Amino acid sequence: MLQRGSTIGILGGGQLGRMMAVSAAQLGYRCIAYAPEGDNVVNQVCDDLFVNKWNETAALAAFAAQCDVVTWEFENVPVATATAMPEGRIFPHPRALETAQDRLAEKRFVEGLGGRPAAYARVDSRSDLEAAVDRLGAPGILKTRRDGYDGKGQWRIGSDRDAQGLHLPDVPLIYEGFVEFEAEFSIILVRGQDGEIRFWDSARNTHEGGVLAASTLPAGDIIEAQVDEARELARQVADALKYVGVLTLEFFATHEGPIFNEMAPRVHNSGHWSIEGAVTSQFENHIRAVAGLPLGDTATVAKAVTMTNIIGADITASQDHLAAPDTHLHDYGKAKVREGRKMGHVTRLER
Ligand code: AMP
Repeated sequence: MLQRGSTIGILGGGQLGRMMAVSAAQLGYRCIAYAPEGDNVVNQVCDDLFVNKWNETAALAAFAAQCDVVTWEFENVPVATATAMPEGRIFPHPRALETAQDRLAEKRFVEGLGGRPAAYARVDSRSDLEAAVDRLGAPGILKTRRDGYDGKGQWRIGSDRDAQGLHLPDVPLIYEGFVEFEAEFSIILVRGQDGEIRFWDSARNTHEGGVLAASTLPAGDIIEAQVDEARELARQVADALKYVGVLTLEFFATHEGPIFNEMAPRVHNSGHWSIEGAVTSQFENHIRAVAGLPLGDTATVAKAVTMTNIIGADITASQDHLAAPDTHLHDYGKAKVREGRKMGHVTRLER
C-alpha cells in the first residue's frame, strides 16, 4: 500500500487528471502531472506540472524520479512515454495503452476473447476503402485507427459515392459497418492489484455529433438485459491485460445483443456520475487501485442519476444549474472556450 504523503504522477493534463488529483488529495497523496504545452487544467489541483513533449527523455526521467507511482488520464500517451516510467510503478501496465490505441488491434484483441465488434475492414488506400464498402456495405463509418476522440477522425460514408468523393487522410484507417443500435452504454470496472474486480452500474449514454451528451441511470430494460454479457467480456479484457485501475468498454445495445464499440484504458466521461451517484467514484477507486488500497463499494446511491456534459459556450451559464435540487456542478477550469469542447458537467440525483 502506498503510504500517505506519497506522490502519484499523472501523465496528461486534462479534466480526468484534475478529478483524479482531487480524489488522491482526499486520500492523503500528492499529485504531480506531466503534459505537453496546452490548456492544461490538472495543475490547478496538483503540486507541480512538468510541461514537456512526450518524448523528452530527460524531463520524463526527472518526473519519474519524483513519483512513487505513475498513472495516466489520457489514452494517447505514447507507449514509449509510459514504458519510460519505472517498471512495476506504473499502473495500469503500458500494454493496455498499446492495445487500446489502435482500433484494429483493439478489435482483434476483443474478438480473440469472444467479443463482437461491428463488422470492420482495414483501410490503407482508396482501393481498400472501395473494397470495404463493397464488402460491408454503406452506411458505415471510416475512422482513423489512432488518435481519434469525441468523434474526431471519423467520416460517415452514406454510399459508394461518398467514399469516392472523400479526401483520404494519409494515416491508417478502419471502415466499420454502421450499427443499428437501440441504445449505447459502457461497462466501467475497477481492477485491484490483487485481481479483484468491481463494476459500476451501466448508464445509458447519448451522443451528439460523436460527443457524449449525457449518461442516465437507470439505463432501461434494453441495456440492463445486456449488461451481464458485456461485463463478462470486460472482465476477460481486464484479466488478460492484468489491468490495474479503472477500465471502460463502450457498447451498442442491439437486437442481437451487445456489440463492442471501443475501450478506454482509463476513467471515462460516462462514469462522471459516480462522483455523487455511487458510494465510491471511479476517480477514487482508480487511485485506490494504483495505490494498492482496498477498493471501495461501487453501488449506486440514488433512484436516478443524470450526468449532462457542459459543452462549449454553455459553460458561461453553468451556475444556473445550481438552483435545482441535488444538482452538482463540475467546472473543469478551462480558460479557452471552444465549440464542441467539454468544459464541465452537471450531475443531478433523485434519491
Ligand atoms: P467512437 O469514437 O468510435 O466511440 O464513436 C463516437 C460515437 O459515434 C459512438 O458513440 C456512436 O454514437 C457513433 N458510432 C461510432 N461508430 C459507430 C458504428 N460503427 N455504428 C454506429 N454508430 C457509431
